[in-house]
Amino acid sequence: LGGKISAAIRRMSNNTVPDETVLKQMLSEIARALLEADVNVRAVQQLRGNVLSAVDISSLGAGVNKVKLIQKAVFDELCRMLDAGHKAVPLKRGHGSNVVMFVGLQGNGKTTTCAKYAYHYSRKGWKTCLVCADTFRAGAFDQLKQNATKAKIPFYGSYTETDPVAIATAGVERFRAEGYDLIVVDTSGRHKQEVALFEEMEQMTSAVKPTDIVFVMDSSIGQAAHDQAAAFRSRVDVGSVIITKLDGHAKGGGALSAVAATRSPITFIGTGEHIDEFEPFVAERFVGRLLGMGDVSGLMTTMKDAGLANNADMVKRLTGGVFTLRDMNEQFEGIARMGPLDKVMGMIPGLSSMLPEGAVGNGSEGAKRIQAFGYIMDAMTDEELDNPKVVWCTSRIRRVARGSGRHVAEVEALLVEYRRFAKMVQSVGSMSKKGGMGGLGG
Ligand code: GDP
Ligand code: MG
Repeated sequence: LGGKISAAIRRMSNNTVPDETVLKQMLSEIARALLEADVNVRAVQQLRGNVLSAVDISSLGAGVNKVKLIQKAVFDELCRMLDAGHKAVPLKRGHGSNVVMFVGLQGNGKTTTCAKYAYHYSRKGWKTCLVCADTFRAGAFDQLKQNATKAKIPFYGSYTETDPVAIATAGVERFRAEGYDLIVVDTSGRHKQEVALFEEMEQMTSAVKPTDIVFVMDSSIGQAAHDQAAAFRSRVDVGSVIITKLDGHAKGGGALSAVAATRSPITFIGTGEHIDEFEPFVAERFVGRLLGMGDVSGLMTTMKDAGLANNADMVKRLTGGVFTLRDMNEQFEGIARMGPLDKVMGMIPGLSSMLPEGAVGNGSEGAKRIQAFGYIMDAMTDEELDNPKVVWCTSRIRRVARGSGRHVAEVEALLVEYRRFAKMVQSVGSMSKKGGMGGLGG
């Protein structure tokens, strides 16, 4: 989807002065891409109309950058399409336990997402735990146990108790008493929306008194997500929605916009089976990435979560478009703590192109290369780290190579990558300052 939309915009930008015909042609291409992603027809028509009325091309003077205006209008409209109009109620730490109950049909990704969600908060330093109140599906407790153990998160459940409400009540009571910040309750789904499921959810709600009810929804059903989200909302007090399986489903855009249209805020998205293939959903950030703009604000959040960007200085420099070898080194050092490389890479403009395809993940070629770059930067002086230009001389490159035990060619490769990287940060920084495509601020 993103590829097609950004290609359409790029083609339009090649016309130095786009006119009405060019604009309409671009909008048709975007509309087609959105329809292919199963976005609702009316929503697509509305986007088209809104962009056209936002940029009245014939009335614009010659001095106006029409391409920028059009890009901005498309960006704004895509964001609006994904906006529920209000935010989910945020969880608060330090006011007793937050109890978050997960609901949704079987197979949508509830159990997986419960663990991801708990893990997300535990990485932020919250004391989190999991309760398995699914007695419907065979092996449900084992599945949750396995996920929880991998993520080192305490859990509660039972092999013998058959009443899910009793399990939830006991688990929540126990963890509340132990002062947990966040208690995540996984419930049983059913194959379809049936009376028994809704009754169970209602009983569960009055038993555990959740702070938030999260509805988990599989993105592969596309715009049909609208009716399912609406049905759940009509029976339980759904406060937020998490959309799963956005990896590898062509209909993801349809599901996201359909859920937003029910005015349910989307808080997170699932992008894979692994525990950290999960991220907060921020429409601007998502659209920015869709349009191929590199995700500086997402990177900032990830760095903050990893305890890296307590370095306010660095954040300021990065968003201002300044990037030194020291910044690069700090990022590389933190990458190990941030989780799978490819996810981090995707967020840094241009960084993914640094590595051969598929060469990411722990122990891979890409990871080794990053590690080698780290050694090289460790062998540099403060002056060199802060002012990378000075390293570009044979004697310094040789010295750094010797000091780090790497080849001269590797040092040079690092410097080349650095230069490319810095240029990218610079262009993103100036874009966000000008408010060009927007959405890049924290
Ligand atoms: P539940 O029945 O709602 O609890 O769903 P599960 O958590 O058991 O998930 C059902 C299947 O979907 C499992 O095979 C998960 O690994 C898979 N799954 C969950 N979330 C994602 C996701 O974001 N991406 C992908 N590719 N698979 C997912
Ligand atoms: Mg489950």
